[in-house]
Amino acid sequence: MKIVQKEFGVSTHSRTEMVDVTSRIEAAVRDAGIHNGDVIVFCPHTTAAITINENADPAVVHDMLMVFDQVIPRSHPGYRHDEGNSDAHCKSSLVGCSEQILIHDGRLTLGTWQGVYFCEFDGPRSRTVIVQVRGE
Ligand code: ZN
Repeated sequence: MKIVQKEFGVSTHSRTEMVDVTSRIEAAVRDAGIHNGDVIVFCPHTTAAITINENADPAVVHDMLMVFDQVIPRSHPGYRHDEGNSDAHCKSSLVGCSEQILIHDGRLTLGTWQGVYFCEFDGPRSRTVIVQVRGE
């Protein structure tokens, strides 16, 4: 089994944002020359996340960010973390910092409406995404 690890940068432009990185993952898989296996997409940040969801209707991303804000408020009298970004830490753990996607015959086995998103919860910032492609 071959293992190829790469990383790429993502610049975010607002405090919360979901950036479609599907084409960057596809490029990393192509560059790795691995046709069957899997790819792990990992976010090495405590206030950001990786998820897979619909990339056809942009309203879905809007609605997800809105719901995250409703479930986890920006400020709360009980927060103790003095950086003022406790909501972003909570969202990061709720959504999760990685996804695993199968690669079959050189393609990501995503569903028709699925895309891979980098989720920013404390931007704007310059972020890094780590991609490890494994297989043959
Ligand atoms: Zn913090």
